[in-house]
Amino acid sequence: MELSVAFLALSSLVFLAPAVAQEMDAVTVLRVQDQRLAAIAQPLLRANDRLCREHMPLTGIILHSSDQYADGAGDAFPEGAPVAISAIVPQSPAAEAGLLPDDGVIAINGASIEAPAAGEPHLRDRAFAMLAATPAGALTRIAVKRLGESAVHQIDAPKGCRSLVEVLADDQPKARSDGRVVQVSYGFLAAESDHSVAVALAHELAHSILEHRRRLSQANVEKGFFGEFGKNRQLNRQAEVEADRLSIHLLANAGYDPAIAPAFWRSELGRRMGGGLLRSGAYPSPEHRAKQLEEEIRLYLPSGRGLSYPEHLLRMRERAMR
Ligand SMILES: [Zn+2]
Repeated sequence: MELSVAFLALSSLVFLAPAVAQEMDAVTVLRVQDQRLAAIAQPLLRANDRLCREHMPLTGIILHSSDQYADGAGDAFPEGAPVAISAIVPQSPAAEAGLLPDDGVIAINGASIEAPAAGEPHLRDRAFAMLAATPAGALTRIAVKRLGESAVHQIDAPKGCRSLVEVLADDQPKARSDGRVVQVSYGFLAAESDHSVAVALAHELAHSILEHRRRLSQANVEKGFFGEFGKNRQLNRQAEVEADRLSIHLLANAGYDPAIAPAFWRSELGRRMGGGLLRSGAYPSPEHRAKQLEEEIRLYLPSGRGLSYPEHLLRMRERAMR
């Protein structure tokens, strides 16, 4: 995995069609994997609700906006609605409320989506923030435009951990997060099973839950080249170990056998992603990671399954890293 707390230049992220899928347009390519990624992410976000300190309603809606695409790829958007529904998780609250892919989004909870000022993130990010801000217990109201007609849909969605999970347009296998946004690359999704994707998501979500971005920044830890040395390296590595350990509990809570995590790190792709000469010193070796994960299972989830509230790891949030 990439350094999980890498500071992503999200505002400059523009989707381009991955090279491996030249026959399909960029919108179609990304929406297929967007829907699959969301379907894997939602149970993880839902089942680990009480481990998170920030929440959002899990509607099952995946949004996109025309300003995310390079020239020409935004033709799929309804006129006058630069934000639209890219995909909907099957059987989700949004599906039950009658929303459909390609519905143009006019307003969320009564407020229209205004254009971002220069330097601000995409319209999609703004719309996501509005959706995520629905008060707990309230219905999410979405006004949409479909074939020229407008309608307001009310969605009764359960709450889960707040995280924007999205496909990164990159053919290389990658997963990364910045504390609020989790990205899994197209190359990873296209090559890997749902179980491997869940392992990667659980690791990245664990970084968010353990608030590593805040804690590393409070410890003045540097990223990139300088992150490879001394105290920086030690604390970046500590964050990776904590995230790996918590990922076991997140997987178990969502109904997975957590043994899929060590199995991933021993798989061909796991060894390739985590190993090799270019391996960052911030990460333990894949075999070492697999062993630590097995140790966490043995100590804290001896039955290998079931609900878990890993207080020994969640306590770390209150501690300064040093
Ligand atoms: Zn990580």
